[in-house]
Amino acid sequence: MSTATIIDGRKFSATLRGRIAEEVTRLKNDHDLTPGLAVVLVGEDPASQVYVRSKGKQTLEAGMNSYEHKMPAETTQEELLAKVEELNNDPAVHGILVQLPVPDHIDDHAIINAIDPNKDVDGFHVINSGRLATGARGASAPMIPCTPLGSIMLLKDHLGDLSSKTAVVVGRSNIVGKPMAQLLLQESCTVTIAHSRTKDLPDVVRQADIVVAAVGRPEMVKGDWVKPGATVIDVGINRIEVDGKNKLVGDVATAEAMEHAGAITPVPGGVGPMTIACLLANTLTAASRQNGLEEPNLL
Ligand code: NDP
Repeated sequence: MSTATIIDGRKFSATLRGRIAEEVTRLKNDHDLTPGLAVVLVGEDPASQVYVRSKGKQTLEAGMNSYEHKMPAETTQEELLAKVEELNNDPAVHGILVQLPVPDHIDDHAIINAIDPNKDVDGFHVINSGRLATGARGASAPMIPCTPLGSIMLLKDHLGDLSSKTAVVVGRSNIVGKPMAQLLLQESCTVTIAHSRTKDLPDVVRQADIVVAAVGRPEMVKGDWVKPGATVIDVGINRIEVDGKNKLVGDVATAEAMEHAGAITPVPGGVGPMTIACLLANTLTAASRQNGLEEPNLL
């Protein structure tokens, strides 16, 4: 019998996008300011094209300006750096995102770290990682990576105060696992980061009041790994084939986990929709900060 509550990321992200659109209207009316997001896509990767289209559409729907820069696969690192510099200097652009992955001949670290940290709406720049790790506030507050930001919003909305809870993050990537662990630590959780070399992973996960799975392995976290009543955030997006049909599954065996968890994010419809909503939130935050305006409270 399933008992877990489903944490509905689609509904939450729709509400968040509505709040963002209201704030954009307010910025336009009160300050004649329209937030602008520039997305740079190098090459023709089909999945990246879908993401970029979707980001552009939702940016416009929120009332912001969307600038798409498509560059050919043979673009050199220097040409891409020149594009980033042009956008850094463009006052109409408040947020810059270079869609990853970039082609192999380009060093993605060099590109990310060339973005003005205050326009780095993906939150991947080393300055933003450092600001997040040190708990910087006010004018030097970090831009927070979108997927972990969306995940912590869902957790706080569902659980309220996270303080003193035990959290296990499975995965230590720079874009999800590490920033997620930092956010949980900031909420005064006791945090363990697990990865491919972790011993006795099921037992480690079983300790957690909060489990965040960001691994990229279909349904790896089994139901009996989950402590009764735990809250499970499944970041994974994996395409698998079932009976000849494509199916999207997470990193958690959802049906099994629902027998144990208190609440769980589904895939699709959990963390996924939060990521673009948080990109828009970051763009709004960036536009407000760059113009010396108070940051909107979106929750
Ligand atoms: P990465 O491949 O960069 O990192 C995966 C992490 O999982 C690594 O730290 C790796 O450990 C760890 N890992 C791999 N195998 C195991 C294992 N058997 N046991 C324990 N840990 C393991 O992935 P990302 O962080 O970029 O993405 C993770 C998942 O989240 C993917 O499914 C991705 O599609 C999804 N994703 C979803 C987003 C969304 O919008 N919802 C956005 C971004 C990602 P090690 O470091 O030791 O190799």
